Amino acid sequence: MKKAAFLDRDGVINRSAPEGEYITRWEEVEILPGVAEAISLLAQAGFCVLAASNQRCVAKGLLTLSELESIHERLCKELAAKGATITRIYYCPHDSQPCCGCRKPDPGMLLTAARDYEIDLRSSWMIGDSDVDIQAGMKAHCRTVRIGHVDAITNPPPDLFAKDLLDAARKLLQFKSPSPMGGA
Ligand SMILES: [Mg+2]
Ligand SMILES: [Zn+2]
Repeated sequence: MKKAAFLDRDGVINRSAPEGEYITRWEEVEILPGVAEAISLLAQAGFCVLAASNQRCVAKGLLTLSELESIHERLCKELAAKGATITRIYYCPHDSQPCCGCRKPDPGMLLTAARDYEIDLRSSWMIGDSDVDIQAGMKAHCRTVRIGHVDAITNPPPDLFAKDLLDAARKLLQFKSPSPMGGA
């Protein structure tokens, strides 16, 4: 069984679109500073790096599935050129209603990934910049890192706060489990 680092996409890997807007073209993708280094660190530490992204812009008709996949292909290629491998980007193309099971805060994408790649979810992490990321991670029994303001009020609270993905990677690699069972 492998451990995984599940990354949210917008706001973690690439800069988010302004509130209420969506990334619909490659030209709008701006990879955030330190992301390639963070992914390399996680991979060196034995994590399978995967992404899990809500993209209801597909359900809204703002881009097609194949356009979304081609953005993801280019994103992975660009990062791979910097030595950072994202094994796969899972995404939910559905709208918030009806419930599809894969849209975060549901854990569907993480559970599917666990089956696809033989992931041990309890030794895995979900890293995101929204409450729904933390909720999805917790429902999948992963540990969680919330990216953003360290004092952000977040419900439920994550295991760790970090200012960006590189900070998150460094912190989770030093994380000592507070549980009496001890950590790996
Ligand atoms: Mg996000
Ligand atoms: Zn879905």
